[in-house]
Amino acid sequence: MQTAGYSLSGLILSLLLLAVPVEAGELVVSADFPGGSAEVLKVDQQTRSITVCPAGDPQFGWPCWWYFKVSGIKPGETLTVSVDASNLKQANGSKLSANWALPERAAFSLDRKTWKQTGSGTREEDHCRWTQQVDAEQAWFAWGPPFVPSDAQTLVDRLSRKHEDVTAFELCKTRAGRSVPALVLSPDGKHSDDRMVIWIQARQHAWESGGSWVGRGFIEWAVSDDPLAVALREKVDIYYVPIMDIDNVATGNGGKNQIPHDHNRDWSEMPRWNAVQAAMKALKQFDKQNRLVMFVDLHNPGASSKQPFFYIAPPELNTQRRKALQDNFIAICREEMQEPLKLDRSTPSTGPKYDKRWKEISSNWVRSATREHVVGITLETCWNTPHSHPQGYMTVGQQLGRGIARYLKQDPRQSPALD
Ligand SMILES: [Zn+2]
Repeated sequence: MQTAGYSLSGLILSLLLLAVPVEAGELVVSADFPGGSAEVLKVDQQTRSITVCPAGDPQFGWPCWWYFKVSGIKPGETLTVSVDASNLKQANGSKLSANWALPERAAFSLDRKTWKQTGSGTREEDHCRWTQQVDAEQAWFAWGPPFVPSDAQTLVDRLSRKHEDVTAFELCKTRAGRSVPALVLSPDGKHSDDRMVIWIQARQHAWESGGSWVGRGFIEWAVSDDPLAVALREKVDIYYVPIMDIDNVATGNGGKNQIPHDHNRDWSEMPRWNAVQAAMKALKQFDKQNRLVMFVDLHNPGASSKQPFFYIAPPELNTQRRKALQDNFIAICREEMQEPLKLDRSTPSTGPKYDKRWKEISSNWVRSATREHVVGITLETCWNTPHSHPQGYMTVGQQLGRGIARYLKQDPRQSPALD
């Protein structure tokens, strides 16, 4: 009956603790900060274990993202963190697979700057449990390394202060009035009507935080001393948007399949989302000037993907010339993306069978609304591997940059017509 005795004293202890807000050494979980999302199901002060479920509202997208803070940690102790993903629902009420919310390794940080992975978790049906020794009084845990609106703002501001060729700007305000930070990298004194333009963006789906880290790796490479980056800047203006769906990132919602449709099903005559509208307008303008040559949309795929891959143009939107340019670009990226994440040879496409709004997917809109020599493409970087942390993601971004630079050594606007 020792067990009963313990639980009775545990109950009395809990009741006593209820009267006192926070005792020293009491674990406290919170998610009331930008990007935070967690409903606390249980905190066991004896076993130092925490159970949460993602708290996103399905009308604002798949509730697979979670991110919370734990305080009251005794430095050096080992915490057990569990996520219960058994009750995730899509906006239409149907079940969302727990796989979307349960990475093999969770992300954790002691300062919200350096994000590491926990060891492999223990999966039981729709739950996963990770243990982590923490050498601090507080720590943050998340589905993957967070990248929130303030990170986007800080990044574009930092680069524009540090590099004279970088100009930070506001792409637009969101429907909720938040600023969407962006930047352009365009060397002073080189403005001309003839320079090529490339456009790189991430996070049309808010939960896919890895896309923003790939984007950060790309843009930090683009301003670097790598001779390929220097050569790229010589002839190309680079537009970069770290987070498209700022509102759902800020509120910790998933964004994917939100009501009435998400950002990546919005590239239509009447876009609902301001960031999409602003991006379309700019891209149209660059294409009209015959300057646009490339558009890259950065995403994270499903849990079972273990290598990055491109979604390519469906046959319905391809021509021989468009396909030749796209194939050439991917072949070069395949040489660059080797370690630690090797580009997958598989290149699926997003045609009519993929989604009924397939024409409103950004890359497909680019393929149908801009000139034939423009490569519009989606890069999906796997999130469920031991390398799906900031450094791994940023390496993919650098490799993407090198692939773009090598591809653009020859101006695709001069490529021959093939049809
Ligand atoms: Zn996505």
